[in-house]
Amino acid sequence: MTDNTWPGGRRKALYQPEHGKWNALNYPGTRQLCSLCDEPTGRCEDDTMRSSEGEPICEDCFVEEESVAK
Ligand SMILES: [Zn+2]
Repeated sequence: MTDNTWPGGRRKALYQPEHGKWNALNYPGTRQLCSLCDEPTGRCEDDTMRSSEGEPICEDCFVEEESVAK
């Protein structure tokens, strides 16, 4: 069902890790939003950064959390 959305029919050339990144960047529906500032985290499940409460957060908020925690 996603065949038509892949640029240049390059779907088969993408390795699995690439899929996640591509999806995260191109599918707003699966885009992970920061639980603190509601900005897209630019991440997907595999490399999610989490707050001290275990919520997915963006890089900026992650850095903030780190600096607060110290
Ligand atoms: Zn954030």
